[in-house]
Amino acid sequence: MKKIAILGSTGSIGTQTVDILPAVDAQVVALTTNTRIQILEEQARALHPKMVCAYDEAAARDLKCRLADTEIRVLTGMDGLIACAAESGADIVVTAVVGMVGLLPTLAAIDAGKDIALANKETLVCAGELVMRKAREKGVKILPVDSEHSAIFQCVQAAQGNPIDKILLTASGGPFFGKTAEQMRTVTREQALAHPNWSMGAKITIDSATMMNKGLELIEAMWLYDLPPEDIEIVVHRESIVHSAVEFVDGSVIAQLGVPDMRLPIQYALTWPARVPCKVPRLRLAEVAKLTFFEPDRQAFPALTLAQRAAAQKGDRGAVLNGANEAAVGLFLAGEIGFAEIAERVAHALDTIAYHKDVTLDDILAADAAARALVRAQP
Ligand code: NDP
Ligand code: MG
Repeated sequence: MKKIAILGSTGSIGTQTVDILPAVDAQVVALTTNTRIQILEEQARALHPKMVCAYDEAAARDLKCRLADTEIRVLTGMDGLIACAAESGADIVVTAVVGMVGLLPTLAAIDAGKDIALANKETLVCAGELVMRKAREKGVKILPVDSEHSAIFQCVQAAQGNPIDKILLTASGGPFFGKTAEQMRTVTREQALAHPNWSMGAKITIDSATMMNKGLELIEAMWLYDLPPEDIEIVVHRESIVHSAVEFVDGSVIAQLGVPDMRLPIQYALTWPARVPCKVPRLRLAEVAKLTFFEPDRQAFPALTLAQRAAAQKGDRGAVLNGANEAAVGLFLAGEIGFAEIAERVAHALDTIAYHKDVTLDDILAADAAARALVRAQP
């Protein structure tokens, strides 16, 4: 039986992971939240982990009282997250926290030799080179949860060791597909939060609306599959049925298809290399009827070009791009800046913060902090 730690178990990916657990031969050893302790308490009582963490200190105090009648250890803060990742006795850690906060626990888990079911793409965007190198050194598997990267992972397995020539990374296009750059200036928070195909946490939903999500995924794919960014082509595919595809030297393209439901890629990351029945509805192609594909509109979605630029430069650019984006999305969700300003502030951070090519973990943390501070300080 596999021992699993779920970081961010109360979020969109986290709760869907808990939902498919009965299909996986697994025992949960750790669960974490930031503040949603009601959900965490219910999960803990059902799954009996060894330890839990509420990142927020006040929430952790409350959670400790709620779980006082159990043997479960209640932790808090970054130390608590790291302990859940590396010291809970897990074989595999599902990284489903949102944002750069996932980096240190992921590195700690890899150091401790745990396999990673990676949902937290920000970790690879900020520190892909470091994370992948450490994983290779430790012989740790990074199993992608993100639907596109899971699709690529599945296509690659059909390649019999032949190298990938090109990745076709599909994008739904989000709620603002077809709008012009001018029209994007007046979109609201509510419109940006209404994704047509996927139900996800707020931050990634906004990233999908700006298409920064696809930019982050391009960087994620670059590190996972060791390809230069120019070999990763973004294709807008409105139906979210083709989850991505891989092209080989002979021009043959292998794609992975399925209904848009994250439980499938989550389950596959946890059962790989085996496949087991999944509760997700089956794909009925005749009901889908039509699959459409478009070039992305780079004028209306400048985040794509910003991410491509950061991907090409490597070094600390991923950390600057991501830190600036997290801060700008936070300001947008708080109603403090407009939608178009998200990409503008990220561009300003990339233009302003000095570039460092060879980076240590400390450099990455510093680049992240500088980008956030700059974005928040802008009038
Ligand atoms: P959610 O916002 O729904 O959940 C995030 C989880 O992380 C929650 O458990 C949340 O706790 C916790 N969390 C938030 N902030 C902190 C913090 N500062 N410290 C510790 N824990 C924290 O996000 P999603 O599930 O949508 O996304 C999670 C990750 O997966 C992201 O990196 C996203 O890009 C990626 N992903 C998500 C997909 C999806 O369909 N949702 C698809 C592909 C990738 P609390 O509940 O208290 O807020
Ligand atoms: Mg995705």
